[in-house]
Amino acid sequence: MSEQLAVDRHACAGHGLCYGASPDLVNCDDQGDPVIVAHPVPAELLDEARRLVELCPERALTLD
Ligand code: SF4
Repeated sequence: MSEQLAVDRHACAGHGLCYGASPDLVNCDDQGDPVIVAHPVPAELLDEARRLVELCPERALTLD
């Protein structure tokens, strides 16, 4: 089953921890907001995606 990483833009504080930590999964737009770049998350990056969800202090990232 493929898993999708998503960002809740209302919860996100935009401080960039996610795209600093995992540029293969998350990039940023010219406003500094995160943009998910892996759709779906490749199997080899699933563990990294799970760590990223835990890393976000605002709980703005989800993996479903
Ligand atoms: S770590 Fe979380 S709050 Fe910070 S930019 Fe990424 S999604 Fe937004």
